Amino acid sequence: MKYSELFYTIQGEGMLTGVPSVFFRTSYCNLRCIWCDTPYTSWEPEDKSISVNKVVEEITKYNCRYVVITGGEPFLQAKELMVLCHELSEGGHHITIETNATIYADVSAHLISMSPKLRNSNPKPSNRYFEMHQRERIRADVIHKFLDNYTCQLKFVMETPKDLEEIQCLQLEIGIPNEAVVLMPQGISAKEIQSKQEGIIKICKQNGYRYSPRVHVDLWGNRRGV
Ligand code: SF4
Repeated sequence: MKYSELFYTIQGEGMLTGVPSVFFRTSYCNLRCIWCDTPYTSWEPEDKSISVNKVVEEITKYNCRYVVITGGEPFLQAKELMVLCHELSEGGHHITIETNATIYADVSAHLISMSPKLRNSNPKPSNRYFEMHQRERIRADVIHKFLDNYTCQLKFVMETPKDLEEIQCLQLEIGIPNEAVVLMPQGISAKEIQSKQEGIIKICKQNGYRYSPRVHVDLWGNRRGV
């Protein structure tokens, strides 16, 4: 598989925040978010290779039940991902897959953590990836299928409270329940996150959404492998 890093930390976002987990970060993404916090998997992807067996071996060394497969976009390597999830499941691991929810495959996973990208993720219109990103970033059929088949959360990165309208349109179109919605502030520093969190918490209280901190940004800013 093409990957960029494998490390042991705590889950920093969403409903499993704080749970010690081994992260396996695949390389390559089919989107180009302007604020991507892992550009080494998307804008300038690293392409180290590792076999599925070796990934399982490395993960097993940590003696940790929880595994998070993230990216980039893990479902770009669907065939290998299916084998990896099967092997990890057989080994008794709890598997979360973090995805931009534009590609579907049947995998053995316990939580599908979708992060559909709003308009605030668009690159500048002059950028060569703008049209592709704008066209591909929301796949209602894929989100629907994950919701039908898995335990899911939908994490939305909010730039301003105005993003709420777009989230609610999506909810209506796809039938996303409020309990599955997780809102997080956009930011790559603790200061930036803090400046937005109060407004987002207010929206969560009004709508029954979950607020998620971004523990890694709070603690380590934009550092990798932590
Ligand atoms: S979907 Fe994720 S990995 Fe891909 S460009 Fe957007 S933030 Fe980066």
